[in-house]
Amino acid sequence: MATIDRRSATLALAHALSAAEHGLPVIPLSRTKLPALRSPHRDAPDPLLCRGECGRPGHGVHDATTDPATVRALFAAAPWATGYGIACGRPPHHLIGVDLDTKADTDSTAALRHLALRHLFTIPETVVVLTPSGGRHLWLTGPPGVAVPNSASRLAPGIDIRGAGGYLVGPGSLTAHGIYRTAPGTGHLAPAPCPGALLRLLAPPAPLPDRAGHPAQGHASGHGLVQFVRAAHEGQRNTRLFWAACRAYENGIGDSLADALTTAAVAAGLPEREARATIASAARLSNLGSGN
Ligand SMILES: [Zn+2]
Repeated sequence: MATIDRRSATLALAHALSAAEHGLPVIPLSRTKLPALRSPHRDAPDPLLCRGECGRPGHGVHDATTDPATVRALFAAAPWATGYGIACGRPPHHLIGVDLDTKADTDSTAALRHLALRHLFTIPETVVVLTPSGGRHLWLTGPPGVAVPNSASRLAPGIDIRGAGGYLVGPGSLTAHGIYRTAPGTGHLAPAPCPGALLRLLAPPAPLPDRAGHPAQGHASGHGLVQFVRAAHEGQRNTRLFWAACRAYENGIGDSLADALTTAAVAAGLPEREARATIASAARLSNLGSGN
């Protein structure tokens, strides 16, 4: 058992190093598909504030790196890792994962075909990873400066999107359910650019510029994000709130902006409980990443 585990760990490292060499930032994963290294702040009263600034590993997807020496160090610190995760939304590829689930009651492949027909795009030839449960991950690349949020079944039932702050289980990973592999004939491909029409479905509109006319960004974005939510019409309130909350948490101002975002959402007509729940899921997604 120990020997098999050691071999899985060596294989996982080899695959991870190869991905890193191709510009894909990686982290070690355990058999459960979760980041293998536990947070160094797990006993702290408020563990969510650090994203690796402390210099220690164990910050989930924030640990992801393409530097081979750091990849080796991460795996050395987690000898129980049997797989690796690839961080989405990071330069140079700005990877977007289209995760097609195969539950008995959803045909996500047909749903994607339907979306493509309706919005006039074709899915390009690209890397496809087969999951042990029969699902498929399509790898696409996004343009810099467009943050695609993680989502689950927002596009269509059974279609999950791994974007900024999320990660994909890399091919060659061994998990409790089996091995992830590239689909025959796609392993040698480079991930293809996401079609524009699909990207527009994935990336909500940019928030309104702030009063000085600068696009909202980083710490300056709090006001812009709140305004963006406040100006939402019925039918876009929850999507806008979720998007704004994701951006806020990505920029480290999520907790401090949560009340203002809730007030804005309530002003736009969303029940407070729903608003709080939406912000909480944005917090979970951005802090844990969202591997599958
Ligand atoms: Zn830390």
